[in-house]
Amino acid sequence: MEPLGMAATAVPDAGPGPGWQSKCPWGAPKPASISCSLAEVMSEQLAKELQLEEENAAFPEVVAVAEGPFITGENIDTSSDLMLAQMLQMEFDREYDAQLRREEKKFNGDSKVSISFENYRKVHPFDSDSSEDEVDWQDTRHDPYRADKPTTTPKKGFIGKGKDITTKHDEVVCGRKNTARMENFAPGFQVGDGIGMDLKLSNQVFNALKQHAYSEERRSARLHEKKEHSTAEKAVDPKTRLLLYKMVNSGMLETITGCISTGKESVVFHAYGGNATEDDKVIPPECAIKVFKTTLNEFKNRDKYIKDDYRFKDRFSKLNPRKIIRMWAEKEMHNLTRMQNAGIPCPQVVILKKHILVMSFIGQDQVPAPKLKDVKLNSEDMKKAYYQTLNMMQQLYKECNLVHADLSEYNMLWHDGKVWLIDVSQSVEPTHPHGLEFLFRDCRNVSQFFQKGGVAEALNERELFNAVSGLNITADNEVDFIEEIEALEKRNEDHVQNHGKKVSTFSSDGDPPIYDE
Ligand code: ADP
Ligand code: MN
Repeated sequence: MEPLGMAATAVPDAGPGPGWQSKCPWGAPKPASISCSLAEVMSEQLAKELQLEEENAAFPEVVAVAEGPFITGENIDTSSDLMLAQMLQMEFDREYDAQLRREEKKFNGDSKVSISFENYRKVHPFDSDSSEDEVDWQDTRHDPYRADKPTTTPKKGFIGKGKDITTKHDEVVCGRKNTARMENFAPGFQVGDGIGMDLKLSNQVFNALKQHAYSEERRSARLHEKKEHSTAEKAVDPKTRLLLYKMVNSGMLETITGCISTGKESVVFHAYGGNATEDDKVIPPECAIKVFKTTLNEFKNRDKYIKDDYRFKDRFSKLNPRKIIRMWAEKEMHNLTRMQNAGIPCPQVVILKKHILVMSFIGQDQVPAPKLKDVKLNSEDMKKAYYQTLNMMQQLYKECNLVHADLSEYNMLWHDGKVWLIDVSQSVEPTHPHGLEFLFRDCRNVSQFFQKGGVAEALNERELFNAVSGLNITADNEVDFIEEIEALEKRNEDHVQNHGKKVSTFSSDGDPPIYDE
């Protein structure tokens, strides 16, 4: 008997894992030697997992049940009640699933339409795989198997008289009672036929099992609930779904409630954060999950943003399209982090997994904050929003060394009485070959929006451009202005060509960027 999960475990020691792992009767997982990059390991792992998922129809070939109710085997450590109970439970779950599968097969026969019994299975397919991700998350999540604090029973209640008083602390009585009480576990939790036997469970074992039963039930509910949102899920491919499942399964996210937005290049979901922590970071109570679409054609027209971004230049040529899409997600993460560090109101990054970026949710109770284009602000708030936007654009340029490059009332949210910037995957550094043109476009959007919105103080696009960049372009009409911008960009490009490095954008005292040679 070789349980799948354990055999597949090839994970570098991830620090102090849950206690049961080290006591595992099938031995400690083999330490793997990593000969390639983390990214490669992860995608290989993912491929394996996907295969496993497909194969899970064949999952437990398992369990030609041994003669007795107990496992016999010389090397199996049965000294611990807890371990024994877990092994029995695991054994039972697998047996139950095997039976279920037989019934499912019989039920469906050769019919083209089949009914899946998967929801009733005890062993969840994702429990049987173990990837690096999984272990990372599991280490921090609550583990029902982890040795409990000793349970103290309050001192009350006894049976018998005189010398024969037995209190509820009596091991035998208590053990039998615990065994009987197993029946009252979460509804539908299969406790096996232990009830019929004269088993005596210690309080510790009983409590551990009970806790396991409840957490199992909650998790099942979560998974089922997720399935019901499958319309949103259909928007994402199986690999993405698997990654999302894992986030929920690991306890990092509590539930993914639904889809907030489906764009050409990304799908955004709302989720409630779980209790698990990532690198000691507390997961925000509500999260937004931005899934960058892996359908490549939508991204073709965005090449220019990333291809010419100096930060990504070296990497671009070597990458396949799938990796380029991950780079969008990575870019958004880096840009958000820069903005966060500068104190610009924006989503806080929670975690990046491949092409999926989890961040804090701007909004409340599943309702995303409205875009500036959708919210009706009074003139006072409008003016406030304008000055704040001006400020943020300057901060973005000077402190973050970034140009948003898609700034408009569509990517500004109104929340908590202020403007929040989102959607920064395409943001670039000002020295990007088209950086200043992007900035000018941003300025035009912002200026037009606030001028139309009745903010008399709002600078026009050219004034705004100079105010943000610190440049002093004097052209008084748009055509000439853009010509000057392009000339600056060209000079900068030539400089890069000739000197092999970009010019520094700012001098230390915050003066205008130096584009001279
Ligand atoms: P796209 O590239 O598809 O425009 P965005 O990042 O702008 O991607 O996200 C699309 C929409 O999803 C936004 O307009 C906003 O309504 C919503 N959204 C994105 N991120 C968040 C967030 N962190 N909190 C709340 N809503 C968000
Ligand atoms: Mn957007």
